[in-house]
Amino acid sequence: MRAQDILRSRPEGLYCPPGDFFIDPVRPVKRALITHGHADHARAGHGSVLATRETLAIMGLRYGEGFAGATQAAVAGQTLRLDGASVTFHPAGHVLGSAQIAVEKDGLRIVASGDYKRASDPTCAAFEPVACDVFITEATFALPVFRHPDPADEIARLVKSLQQFPERAHLVGAYSLGKAQRVIAMLRQAGYDKTIFIHGALATLCDYYESEGVELGPLAPATVETASAADFAGAVIVAPPSTFADRWARRFPDPVACFASGWMRIRQRAKQRGVELPLILSDHADWDELVATIRDTGAGEVWVTHGREEALVRWCEINAIAARPLHLVGYEDEGD
Ligand SMILES: [Zn+2]
Repeated sequence: MRAQDILRSRPEGLYCPPGDFFIDPVRPVKRALITHGHADHARAGHGSVLATRETLAIMGLRYGEGFAGATQAAVAGQTLRLDGASVTFHPAGHVLGSAQIAVEKDGLRIVASGDYKRASDPTCAAFEPVACDVFITEATFALPVFRHPDPADEIARLVKSLQQFPERAHLVGAYSLGKAQRVIAMLRQAGYDKTIFIHGALATLCDYYESEGVELGPLAPATVETASAADFAGAVIVAPPSTFADRWARRFPDPVACFASGWMRIRQRAKQRGVELPLILSDHADWDELVATIRDTGAGEVWVTHGREEALVRWCEINAIAARPLHLVGYEDEGD
């Protein structure tokens, strides 16, 4: 049995012939296993979906309850038999419910890690390294220049800015699934206990995170209609980055535009977006996390996907680990 006989790239996504299923397919398929709820990984319209309970709930909230013909909840650490293959879900530390999927046949184990990170995140279970023969890794920030700072230090910079500019609203751009809740939960960890205002697009997912025991503290809708602009002086408002261009965002008093993203490492990106306070806060592994994780898995072979494959493939080769890019189409992660 060769690894390519267990998992291979198809136009629909990563396919397992012995188990007859796809992982994170980008087109509707009969049987899908899904790593996490971000839109490019979790799509509606599959015949059946196997995912963690949280990912199924998130898909239900985003697509409506009829998002798949049938669903089955995968429990972390429990092995399931799917035709000729065994699968086990393990936490990926990316967003609530995110999982790596280990696929095994005849003693050969491949781990498809989906998106992952190793940095601390109070909103989801931490990544667990899984020993395997082949490790499939993402490569969003796979260049040595990408080294994410300590997340707590980035949140401390936001808190400091709030103290420095008590008359200005702080408008924090954060993706609606994962990053927004992480920013809020980390502000609470840092001792920020005032009401945090959220854009309407975040309400459902924030409610869901809270129902799963992630404490977000007092939240209120950031609607200017029901409050005067002055009420937002010195306030934190969290919103999807796409809303910054809306009229909605211009109503707040002299806002400090902040953006929580791994891409904020690149000054030019922050500048282009008019971001005054870039917060380098990523839900993806940086270069050091990627190479540490490859070593942790003990994999003799690595398949690299979702991003900058070349540098990581090269690093593997230098370190005597077989590696190749795995070309999967249709992924542009919504949470960075
Ligand atoms: Zn993701």
